[in-house]
Amino acid sequence: MKDSHLCIGLAHQAKIRILACDSTSLVEKARLAHDLYPTSAAALGRVLSATALMGAMLKDEDEKLVVTINGGGPIGTIMTEAYGPYLKGLVGDNTIYLKYNDSNKLAVGLAVGKEGYLKVSRNMHLKETFTSQVALQTGEIGDDFAYYFALSEQVPSLVSLGVLVDVDTHIKAAGGLIIQLMPGHNEEDIQYVEELAKDLKPISSVIAEGKGPEEYIKELFKDAEIVLRKDIDYHCDCSKERFISSLLALPKDDLSEVLKDETIEVKCEFCSKVYKIKKEEIEKYYENVED
Ligand SMILES: [Zn+2]
Repeated sequence: MKDSHLCIGLAHQAKIRILACDSTSLVEKARLAHDLYPTSAAALGRVLSATALMGAMLKDEDEKLVVTINGGGPIGTIMTEAYGPYLKGLVGDNTIYLKYNDSNKLAVGLAVGKEGYLKVSRNMHLKETFTSQVALQTGEIGDDFAYYFALSEQVPSLVSLGVLVDVDTHIKAAGGLIIQLMPGHNEEDIQYVEELAKDLKPISSVIAEGKGPEEYIKELFKDAEIVLRKDIDYHCDCSKERFISSLLALPKDDLSEVLKDETIEVKCEFCSKVYKIKKEEIEKYYENVED
């Protein structure tokens, strides 16, 4: 399996921006970390692919992007984060396996639900946070991100996200494609993208055929110039120190409650890693804080 990566291309005198990624290995890592059933894997995989592409639009490498989706469906809350080349994410329920009866496709929209929101937060150097939220349209994720770009950023966008899950539950292919009409675009550019949209293959099928993001962008837009290539990976930045500092941020009474036990076990929600923290390890920090 190729390492996950993305490309950004500009076409039609930079009036059209194209972002594409092969996120197969990244989504497979997420599946293993959370023991995801097929529909849970497809839903998280789609959100991770979109988050990776949006993360690549950030100008500052230190910026962090957090996407939260809740549509009232059985999967619960989906949350993803992009920071530098890394992605991490979680779902409320990892055991969803729903299919549409007519097409036999994984029913992401049913799992997510559409009575809810898609929220995007940008965090600059852990200080300022810019948050923007839109109502979910279908819960199929791609449509919801397209709506987000149109409403929150006033950028007309075509968004295609897809995850192919193999019979043995492995991720066979995962990817994302975003085509955006940039400021200054004309009627011709709109028509070109509309024509393209009519017979666009699912991005997961394109990736499954072995086509890379760069090759695909150039196939769709003959004049495309690739302006960014970036490796991406599923990776969690958790550590024992981080958990200790979040425990220390608890109200005093809650912290005293926690300190009743000799050893506390905490599990990272993003990578399922378990940390055993001894009482004295917290107390050591606690005393430092008290001083
Ligand atoms: Zn972790």
